Amino acid sequence: MKLVNLQHLGVKNFSEYQAATWLEEHEKELIETNDTHLLGRTKNDLLYKMNKTVETKRQIYESRLAALIALKTGKPVTIWNHVLKSGDKKYKTADRVHSKEELAWHSKKGEVISLTQTTLCPYFKLDTESVKQHYNTFSLPKWFEPYTKFRHFRYRLLNAQWEFQKRLYNSTNGTSTSKLKHDIRRYNNLIIKAYFSLGRFLNPKKEKHGTARQLKIYYVAFDIDGKDHFPCKIESTGLCNDCMVTATRKLHAFREAIIAIKGLKIENVLYSGTKGFHVHCSVNGERETDLKTFTLLNRYLIENHPDIIDNFTFQDHYGDWQYDTHRIFKIPNSVDCTSGVLCSETFKRLNVQDSLVLPK
Ligand SMILES: [Zn+2]
Repeated sequence: MKLVNLQHLGVKNFSEYQAATWLEEHEKELIETNDTHLLGRTKNDLLYKMNKTVETKRQIYESRLAALIALKTGKPVTIWNHVLKSGDKKYKTADRVHSKEELAWHSKKGEVISLTQTTLCPYFKLDTESVKQHYNTFSLPKWFEPYTKFRHFRYRLLNAQWEFQKRLYNSTNGTSTSKLKHDIRRYNNLIIKAYFSLGRFLNPKKEKHGTARQLKIYYVAFDIDGKDHFPCKIESTGLCNDCMVTATRKLHAFREAIIAIKGLKIENVLYSGTKGFHVHCSVNGERETDLKTFTLLNRYLIENHPDIIDNFTFQDHYGDWQYDTHRIFKIPNSVDCTSGVLCSETFKRLNVQDSLVLPK
């Protein structure tokens, strides 16, 4: 959160506690605002909400902390508004705890766990080392290796920034996998999610700006997720059982549904690492198909079996159905750091060494 003073153009970074205190102190001077980025404003000051970068990082920390608490207590944990609930017990995460006043403010909502180092209360330490280790020995499944060519690859980092492939993952001067590994190692301990594009591009590096030229050849894969429900109950596996039960039911429905589609076959089912599964398929024995066929397949499934696959189709100006050409999918064998779960065929969670450090 930051406070911008319009007179001096000064900027102050605020912790959650400082922001709340400032709002209280300026209660009488607050003026109404429609700006959704703002927590409050006065004649001279603008108080901004937590930005996306900080929010993403916090979500990762909180979901991993939830899994750790679930492991320690044997009970699932829900997360809402920075409060983690396990049975009757409530924990409040704090962005920082620098003073007894700051601790007291957070503790109104539950037992405080700081997400940054402090001596005043327990703090959570996120293990990034095991992710690093994983990517140091990373390899693609053999069946996926032929499909890196002409595809766009991007990496979401813990600081919420995106990093992109540094070169093409083709087989000139080395294997495509070795090039991908090289890029992945560059950011290994910071990668929270790693993606590839379903579509092929003539110049995939340009997809960084969304301006790469489509080759209209698609990798045939579908996303099957547990229905959005609230609140998710995080287990020690890093996943929500309710979501996985729903997703499993949908996966069965998908198997049934595609019996009627000649040529479409499931090749691999992978855990998506969050709420469900990624189903990698083939059409007439090929894992890639043309954009038209891929869009038709998606429309057929959505129209005849609504609620199985996630919809990435939309109607253009002429009323024709199009598929989202920028659609990205998680790289097989990569890790989703929100849960620590691998995007792989058998369920596997990294042996993360997240910990709670108690005050001395
Ligand atoms: Zn859920």
